[in-house]
Amino acid sequence: MRFVHDILPQRVRFASGAATESLAAEIALLGSERVMIIAGPAEKDLAERITAGLPVAVRHDDVAMHVPVEVAERARAVAASHEADALVSIGGGSTTGLAKAVALSTGLPIVAVPTTYAGSEATPVWGLTEGAVKTTGTDPRVLPRTIVYDAALTLSLPVELSVASGLNALAHCVDSLWAPRTDPLNQALALEGARALNAGLPQVVAQPGALEGREQALYGAYLAAAAFASAGSGLHHKICHVLGGMFNLPHAQTHAVVLPHVLAFNAPFVPEAERRLAVALDAPTAREGLARLRDRLHAPRSLRDLGMPRDGIGKAAEAVVAAAPAGNPRPVAPQAVTALIESAWEGADPR
Ligand code: NAD
Repeated sequence: MRFVHDILPQRVRFASGAATESLAAEIALLGSERVMIIAGPAEKDLAERITAGLPVAVRHDDVAMHVPVEVAERARAVAASHEADALVSIGGGSTTGLAKAVALSTGLPIVAVPTTYAGSEATPVWGLTEGAVKTTGTDPRVLPRTIVYDAALTLSLPVELSVASGLNALAHCVDSLWAPRTDPLNQALALEGARALNAGLPQVVAQPGALEGREQALYGAYLAAAAFASAGSGLHHKICHVLGGMFNLPHAQTHAVVLPHVLAFNAPFVPEAERRLAVALDAPTAREGLARLRDRLHAPRSLRDLGMPRDGIGKAAEAVVAAAPAGNPRPVAPQAVTALIESAWEGADPR
């Protein structure tokens, strides 16, 4: 066994129902006196409730999907004019992404309070969109100092969004098994993440108001993101990035639809990873385990339903071949990729 693995410097506080106390402790540790709270309009009430005792300099709710540069510029100007000395982001990946954009240019520390399973809080990856072009990069300054996980904050996440977001997290686990920097440590995180998501998500669907499934799902989402941050983007993420950018598809739902097709594409070329993933998913094969989970979750099925035009398949396949990671276990040949995208477009059963 031979590998090099970076451990990212970050604290994780996990306590359901305790976001207020966790945040107060973290802001006190940072010694911050002028906190900028970033939370979109939908998370505003929740944010006010859990930050009432903090030394708040400003509350900012101008959040948008994929962090358009003008939204980032406005947030940076607000941080400067209020002399913020720390950022608290409360919301999904879009909100965390905006805090990262501010941290990128100011170096301000972030305390992230995630309310979806997207996982941006555990990565040093930032993203900004200009026109229709999304640019991403990696910078240690944007990695939140602390993540405050409170599963009670996810109780309001609608079931459909919980399913899509949870499968987005599972995609981090699966893609980590063959991503460019995959190693035994991030594989261990990924497989435990897959186990927890497989256990938690069906409970979220069966009992959306119960904490138990939400806790498992959130714990799994963290492991998934930590694995992904370490292993990097594999073929699955490259495909979703191309499709999302080209056809403006919803982020989490696109991941949810594409995942079983990428697993079917790569699995025969990584038998050991497939065997271990099957154990994590408690099924005879990984493909069967994912299919059973998707059935139980009534997961979104096709790119067609998400609004992708059929005549875009060829153009998307070309872009995927150009962007595919060099070390993908199966050669990423144009015909095979076209077939993969076609079956995801149709919503075929990849078993
Ligand atoms: P999102 O942040 O846009 O949230 C989706 C919707 O859920 C929003 O309408 C939001 O208001 C709502 N919502 C969030 N939490 C809620 C709650 N608890 N109750 C009710 N509604 C709630 O979407 P997302 O899927 O969380 O994040 C996607 C974005 O994150 C994309 O832009 C993606 O590129 C980015 N992302 C980045 C990284 C990274 O490492 N940089 C990783 C994953 C995702």
